[in-house]
Order: sequence, then C-alpha cells, then structure tokens
Amino acid sequence: MSIIEQLAQLRREAEEEIRAAGSDKLNDLRLKIFSRKNGSLSAILRGLGGLSAEERPKVGSMANEVKVHLEGLISERMQQLKAAVMEARLQSETIDVTMPGHWQKPGRIHILNQALEHIKDTFKGLGYAVVQGPEVETDYYNFEALNIPANHPSREMWDSFFLREGLLMRSHTSPMQVHIMEKHEPPVRVIVPGKCYRRDAVDSTHFWEFHQVEGLLVDKNVTFSDLKGTLDLFARRMAGPQRKTRFNPSYFPFTEPSAEVMVDCFVCDGKGCRVCKNSGWIEIMGAGMVHPKVLKGVGYDPEVYTGFAFGMGVERIAMLSCGIADIRLLFEGDERFSRQF
Ligand SMILES: [Zn+2]
Repeated sequence: MSIIEQLAQLRREAEEEIRAAGSDKLNDLRLKIFSRKNGSLSAILRGLGGLSAEERPKVGSMANEVKVHLEGLISERMQQLKAAVMEARLQSETIDVTMPGHWQKPGRIHILNQALEHIKDTFKGLGYAVVQGPEVETDYYNFEALNIPANHPSREMWDSFFLREGLLMRSHTSPMQVHIMEKHEPPVRVIVPGKCYRRDAVDSTHFWEFHQVEGLLVDKNVTFSDLKGTLDLFARRMAGPQRKTRFNPSYFPFTEPSAEVMVDCFVCDGKGCRVCKNSGWIEIMGAGMVHPKVLKGVGYDPEVYTGFAFGMGVERIAMLSCGIADIRLLFEGDERFSRQF
C-alpha cells in the first residue's frame, strides 16, 4: 500500500473512531494518532524517506492536511461532548421559580418570658439589681434561715422535692434573700427571678415547676409605707395606671407584718367577675417586712436596719394579664397556644 493510500485509510478510520468516541476515549485516540513515538501518523511518515524528491512535498502536504483535519475533528467532538454534559446538567438542575416556597415561621418570645422581662424592667427602673441563685438548696437556706425551723407547721406551705444528703429543689426564691444578705452589707436592693419546684398535684392553677420573682430591699429607715408605695407602682405598671392596690393581713414565717397584695380586678374594673371570683380584687403576690430573726441570722442589726421583701408568681401574672385559664398551657410548648401572645 502506498503512503497516500495509507494516509487515506488512516483518515477514514480515524474519522469514524472520533465520531464514536466518548469524552473518556478522546484523549487516548489523540495519542494513538499523533504521538511522535508510536502514533499511527508518525508510523506512516517514517516511510517518507523512501520517496523521490518530487513525491515527497506532495505526500508531505497531504499528511499535513490529514493532520489538521483530524485535529479539527477531535476538538469539534470535544466541544460537542462538553456541550452535551452542560445541557444535561442544566436539565437536571432546573429550578422552577413558580413553585411555592418553604415558609419559616418566625420565633416568638414565650408569654412567660415576656411577663418576666416586663417585671424585671419595672424594678430595674427603680434601681434594683437582678440576681439569680441555685435551684438546688440546703434545708438551712430554704427553711431554717427563713425562720422555718424543722417540725414547724408552716413547712406545710411548701411541699418540697427532697434530694439526697439534706438537699432539695428550692420551693421558693426566698433562700436568695439569705444568700445575698450574707454576702453584702446593706443597703440591699435586688430582685431574684428563677424557677421553683413544689410537690403540688397538677391542676389548672398548680404545676410542679413555676417561676417566681423575689424582691428584697434592706436599708436604714425602711417602712411598710415604702413597701406599699413600691408595689402600688409595680401593680399600676403591670396592669394599667388606673389600678388600685390593697394590702390584706397575711402570714409568712420570714416577714412580720405580712400581707397579700391585691389589685382591683382589671377584667371587670372591680365590679365582680369570674376572674376575681366576684370579689372585685385579685391577689398578685405576698409581701411583708423582713422578720428581725432573719436579719439577725445574717448578721444585720435589726435595730439599725429594716427591710421589705415580696414574692410573686410569674405564671400567675402572665395568666391574669392575658386571660389564660389553665397554667398547664404555659408548659406544653404547643405552638398554636404560644404564638397567640
Ligand atoms: Zn373581676
């Protein structure tokens, strides 16, 4: 076979192979044809030496033409394959912008935290510091230091969860009164928000965990009038400027005198309704003057210093202000409930 025939055959065969090649084969094919060492074109051109001086340029230019032609075919095929890959990708990654999207519901601050923030803001405005304390307490801080000795009948007011080694889950935030006074000299002016635990049977107004805000102010010349003025202002901040407060005598072992703080019903304006049980008044917290025994216990001189303390349930405040009838709703985490506030 002459060189010209060989070149023509190479051209025909290579054309077919290139057209059929996938992208993985194309590079091998290029080497198979054009490699200087063992490519099929080089092999043919090795025969050039045996040609006459007349034939040589003719065959040389034909070989060049075959080379350019096949190179062109290869790069054309390469483009074709790349375009096919891109096309497939575009097809598979199509985004239909008319499809409905996924809506993320925005989060909300829980009604309890809203009430808590409101309470904190009010007292911060009066110069109170906000402090927190441990939820696990000793019998001493939860009871003894608050003038509630062992076997005292008033312990029945706090049905507690006892842990090992004389520890218990605090049943009120009042233990922090003692912690704070032990660590600080008067004047003291703090509120203590926090979780408390009681072994109560769960019903619409009782839950085994709840939140309290304790308040404590100790200084020289603090009187019951200061307590009344402070809590009167608080009640009006929480329930509206037209509200009135009333202080009924009550009993707590660690305050003397003690009072339950009532606000005139903001649902019926004091006329009587279901919320206020037709009395026209709603109890919002307990309060009183710090008992001299408690002051003495932390090393304060009750002849020099006096103070008042108060404690309120955050759940109760939230339920009253939003007309929520069942405390359990606050802890269920049902979004249909919580997003209403
Ligand atoms: Zn009422």
